[in-house]
Amino acid sequence: MEKKFIPIDLHCHSTHSDGSLSVSEVMNLAKSNGALYQALTDHDTVEGISEARKICQQLALNFISGVEISVTWHHNTLIHIVGLGIDENNQQLVEELAKLRTSRIERAKRIAHNLTKVGIHGAFEGAMALCEHPEAISRTHFGKWLVDAGHAKPGKAFEKFLAPGKVGYTQQSWASLENAVKWITDSGGIAIIAHPSRYKFTRTKLLKLIDEFKNYGGIGIEVISSSHSLQDEENIASICRVSGLLASVGSDFHQEESYRTIRPGKNKALPNGLDTVFSHIGIAPEIYTHGEQC
Ligand code: AMP
Ligand code: MN
Ligand code: MN
Ligand code: MN
Repeated sequence: MEKKFIPIDLHCHSTHSDGSLSVSEVMNLAKSNGALYQALTDHDTVEGISEARKICQQLALNFISGVEISVTWHHNTLIHIVGLGIDENNQQLVEELAKLRTSRIERAKRIAHNLTKVGIHGAFEGAMALCEHPEAISRTHFGKWLVDAGHAKPGKAFEKFLAPGKVGYTQQSWASLENAVKWITDSGGIAIIAHPSRYKFTRTKLLKLIDEFKNYGGIGIEVISSSHSLQDEENIASICRVSGLLASVGSDFHQEESYRTIRPGKNKALPNGLDTVFSHIGIAPEIYTHGEQC
């Protein structure tokens, strides 16, 4: 079957959060993969944005400012909201994200403390040593350390220690859905539900999330994402049609050789007949319509 790709990537990480590549490395990689439009969407931070914009100017790559905000929905469900076209100097956004990052350090101490209960010591220092920006400390860094230290097999740290219900998981109050959408839209950006199929919600629950999200001003949802199967893509495409949300695409790139399969800089073409977020962030429609062959 003929496969198409589009040179647009609206979700991607660097060492400013839990990605393995610096801003410069990830933008150069995206460019070499054929990107025409590349976003940077680090978790709960916009600190890489100005550097990314400069590098993209040098590379003649269209840059889209972004962020991925951690949200606690309905008391205990963790979801991620991507903001695109945000103003990284917006005071409310900068201050609120700084609070979320401070809470990451407190959470990291609790994660490490919980791991001592199963005889694992030194996790806080170990994970921190793998993290370039301490306040961005993430379960990803704990996962890498647990594997390096021999406590988990490669790719198994989450299911053994870090996923909800496991000893290293700890409850955290992230942003509310309403605030995350507000901070994004107040700063001039658009809000998008990240990788919806990863939450394993029933269709009813996902539609409930979407209903609230739209009421707060959210407009998009990722149809194409590394963690989505073909079936997931079709499922979320149908959700777009019934809900009126606009489709988005993102590699969610973190590192080479990860379980995520889409390379940074390009994405699979969307299923036919979907309205997209592209025109809202200045992406020319012909880029999409004439998706190149690969
Ligand atoms: P945190 O924001 O610190 O809770 O960490 C969440 C990050 O962990 C996500 O953004 C993913 O990059 C990563 N992650 C979540 N689940 C898994 C998993 N099952 N395997 C590997 N990485 C994961
Ligand atoms: Mn991540
Ligand atoms: Mn995410
Ligand atoms: Mn992400």
